[in-house]
Amino acid sequence: MDQKYQEAADHYGFNCTGCENNCCLTRFYHYTLLEYLYIYEGFKTLDKKQQNKLTRDAAEICRKTGLADETGQPVRLMCPLNGGGLCILYAFRPMICRLFGIPHELQQPGMEVMFHSGCEAFSERCMGKGYFTFDRTPFFIEMANLELALKQTVGIRQKIKLTVAQMIKTFGDG
Ligand code: SF4
Repeated sequence: MDQKYQEAADHYGFNCTGCENNCCLTRFYHYTLLEYLYIYEGFKTLDKKQQNKLTRDAAEICRKTGLADETGQPVRLMCPLNGGGLCILYAFRPMICRLFGIPHELQQPGMEVMFHSGCEAFSERCMGKGYFTFDRTPFFIEMANLELALKQTVGIRQKIKLTVAQMIKTFGDG
């Protein structure tokens, strides 16, 4: 996934150096136990002080998000793992964080192939460059297969839909 992303980024000469419309402000949901456990692996590498701060920040983000949802306000809150513009657990980040920003295609079962443009920063900097075939489909399939194998192994059927903040909040819940 990372390798293919880099190939595409190199094709366009695109290098994410952060932007005002930071994608870490987006409320992304993640749907796999695999990603939840992988972030937990990363979380365990941090010292206790960092862990405590992260769980406090995550709880606060969840609280503010809940309030905004109740009042119908849009939510744009920084992911608790973004520290000074960088992802604290970069090596452990979820799939969408690895794939975001570059134009891509995706074929969902029984549907036409869908093409999506890159992020705002990409469009500003790389407009007019020819499309590099970047198909997310194999990554989604592989992730789904790994998730199935994991859930069968541990005997879990429950579906997951969590933001990174919600995940980290649960780490603090013990
Ligand atoms: S996990 Fe890392 S890359 Fe993903 S939104 Fe949070 S800070 Fe950004």
